[in-house]
Amino acid sequence: MWIVFECPACHVSSLVEVVAETTDLRCPKCSWQRPIAAENRSGNEPASCLVCGCEDIWRQKDFPQRVGVLMVAIGALVSTIFWWFMMPEWAIGVLLLFALLDGLLYTLMRDVLVCYRCHARHRHTPLAGRHERFNLETHERYRQESIRLEEIGRKSETRNRKVE
Ligand SMILES: [Zn+2]
Ligand SMILES: [Zn+2]
Repeated sequence: MWIVFECPACHVSSLVEVVAETTDLRCPKCSWQRPIAAENRSGNEPASCLVCGCEDIWRQKDFPQRVGVLMVAIGALVSTIFWWFMMPEWAIGVLLLFALLDGLLYTLMRDVLVCYRCHARHRHTPLAGRHERFNLETHERYRQESIRLEEIGRKSETRNRKVE
């Protein structure tokens, strides 16, 4: 599988391949690494996030939303041009074609697992339906948690500065 993640140490985003023999997930830019649990290595659907160990992961289509929006926009534009030239059959045909393509791409795209906590993306992993689709409540819980952690970090930072 492929892991797209932001390194917790140097905050650089990287893409790392994890095969059955990979024992540690390493950051290609710095010395950060984390052992990969055997159950996540064995070619099954990972039980937890390989980057932070969080067990809350959501399943999503690996299809960039921007591409979908762009395709619909291009379809609408081409269709408008045909309307302009009084070719309604072509105008409708183009719209239908783009809608069909959009739907087809969406169906063909594989699912990707995204971590609620660190947003690492686990691509090309075998899926067994272990994880649910996006849940706003869970997302909100992790968002609040990260805000709290950030505040704590900021407070301890100012405290350290006072000590110096
Ligand atoms: Zn790093
Ligand atoms: Zn994570």
